[in-house]
Amino acid sequence: MTLENQVAFVTGAGRGIGKGVAIELAKSGADIVFTNRNKQFSDQTQAEIEALGRKCLPFQVDVADTDAVETMVGTALKQFKKIDILVNNAGITRDNIFLRMKREEWDQVIDVNLNGMFNVTKALIKGMVRQRYGRIVNITSVVGFTGNPGQVNYSASKSGIIGFTKSLAQELGSRNITCNAVAPGFIETDMTGELNEEQTSAILNQIPLGKMGSVDDIAQAVCFLVSNQANYITGTTLHVNGGMYG
Ligand code: NDP
Repeated sequence: MTLENQVAFVTGAGRGIGKGVAIELAKSGADIVFTNRNKQFSDQTQAEIEALGRKCLPFQVDVADTDAVETMVGTALKQFKKIDILVNNAGITRDNIFLRMKREEWDQVIDVNLNGMFNVTKALIKGMVRQRYGRIVNITSVVGFTGNPGQVNYSASKSGIIGFTKSLAQELGSRNITCNAVAPGFIETDMTGELNEEQTSAILNQIPLGKMGSVDDIAQAVCFLVSNQANYITGTTLHVNGGMYG
């Protein structure tokens, strides 16, 4: 197992992509710390990780809550002593056309998707610098590159993740910390489950591979970027979108 003796921190691992990533990292040998909001989802993820023989420490912490994130990371470090891998995955949508978009819908998305990533990375980074090792992967989106009507807030947050990733990669390269992004296209999760048939068929028409992606497609990309095979890759974005954009 390639990630044996490593500890990974995954945000938003109650379901969807985050859960798939956490389980794949656990299969590769990593112990897992994760956060989400819903206890039932959390219990399920924890049970699946522990069934793989890995240690698992779950939290119900909102990544946008700076103080709660600091406390959570303190507790995780007490138990595990170190975090080697961080996957900033927690994200939300609050779609609306811009003319109708409320300030609240803008703020909520920026708070979780960007401020949340800042909070968790900030709380973990000192430990990675000290140990001269870290692998950070931030989950952005194809719409951070293409834009999408009805998603000005979400697209802005996902483009912001790219700037964050490139800048952090440049600051931390000398400490043997890599920072990359994975940009999923349309992946089958609860987030895309809200799309109607018409929207889904319009999306499928734009995908050369002719199908939506799976959680596993994203999990495999993340596992590659945190593995030794990707030691010389930093500041980049891996597009996993069936050929929609790249
Ligand atoms: P889901 O809505 O299926 O799952 C989101 C997960 O994040 C849940 O576990 C949720 O918690 C958790 N979460 C949400 N907000 C917070 C918060 N404030 N604090 C802590 N945890 C939180 O989303 P996906 O799996 O589809 O998406 C995951 C990431 O991938 C997101 O960043 C999304 O933008 C991105 N993405 C998804 C695409 C897709 O097609 N699905 C395409 C491109 C990017 P809980 O379990 O409590 O609900």
